[in-house]
Amino acid sequence: MKEPIVELLGISPEDARASLRAFFKARNEAEFRTKQVEEWLFDRHARSFNEMTNLPSNLQVELGNEFSLTELESTYVARSSDGTVKHLWRLDDGERVESVLIPTKDRLTLCLSSQVGCALGCQFCATGHFGFRRQLRPAEIVAQYSNSSRVALHDFERPITNIVYMGMGEPLANLDSVINSLNTLHRGFRKGARRITISTVGLVPGILKLAQRPEPFELAISLHAPLHELRLELMPIEKRYPLPDLFEALRSFQRQKKRRISFEYTLIDGVNDEPKLARALADIARGLTCFVNLIPFNPIPAISEWRASSPSKIARFSEVLTERGIQNAVRRPRGRDIAAACGQLRLARKAAVSVNKKEGL
Ligand code: SF4
Repeated sequence: MKEPIVELLGISPEDARASLRAFFKARNEAEFRTKQVEEWLFDRHARSFNEMTNLPSNLQVELGNEFSLTELESTYVARSSDGTVKHLWRLDDGERVESVLIPTKDRLTLCLSSQVGCALGCQFCATGHFGFRRQLRPAEIVAQYSNSSRVALHDFERPITNIVYMGMGEPLANLDSVINSLNTLHRGFRKGARRITISTVGLVPGILKLAQRPEPFELAISLHAPLHELRLELMPIEKRYPLPDLFEALRSFQRQKKRRISFEYTLIDGVNDEPKLARALADIARGLTCFVNLIPFNPIPAISEWRASSPSKIARFSEVLTERGIQNAVRRPRGRDIAAACGQLRLARKAAVSVNKKEGL
């Protein structure tokens, strides 16, 4: 029986190297062929073996019979007036996920997805609204980076500097794939661990597992409410891992990793933006070395009437945190004109497709 095709981006870089070595050895090819393929994979972001022009064409064909490069098809690209670029990628079974390139003066950050949809149902999130479709394979996570790198080099003329697992899905609910993808990004593509952030709503077992990793990956927590009842309304995960359990895990993470932890706090008008909540946040974060990112809510008209808090309320919230010694910053929402928050583009495209279908377009 024929061996299944191996996704080179889905196995560890060490296993990819061993498989390529065995492949070339079986054909009496020189050792340096392995290095050539690795360069095409990890430095030149090749989309197909045909692009590997320093390999003879028969080897290109034979490589394609044994390995795949997990090409994603870009089905839609949205470019914001602020420079943010969002891609909708079609996977091999027709499912779609988003990734976003966010340029600033010093950085080019890629926000990538870890699942198709999400089962966790956060009330402020378009992805949560779809429900869960399936897990992404490690290669599908890494391929978002590889494909986006080509866009980055072409459109921005610079490489991606930072990666955040903040797109569709909860990374720690797809832990094995995420860990495998981290291995490839870090050891294959040589992205520094301090430049890779895993963002979670607070899945305690996953946080504890990340704490055991030797690499200093960054951890961000989607917090959004500092009190149990309010967080439960916004984020059903609070029922499984309530705030005291989450913060115990974070203290343990910090003891082991000695790394600052980031909190993401989306400010929704009249929902979670009262100064007393800033005081409560400061209370629960006491003793942790942390940084709070305050993010004005990005409205999702199709599913909610919530609006962003006013600039004055956001400023007051920030002040209260600062007065209590909690470092924080108000983040400018990026890509609002292209629905750049998690899951919004997929939702917008789905709505557009249904309208077109209804109108016979
Ligand atoms: S915020 Fe994250 S965890 Fe919550 S529903 Fe959206 S994708 Fe899932």
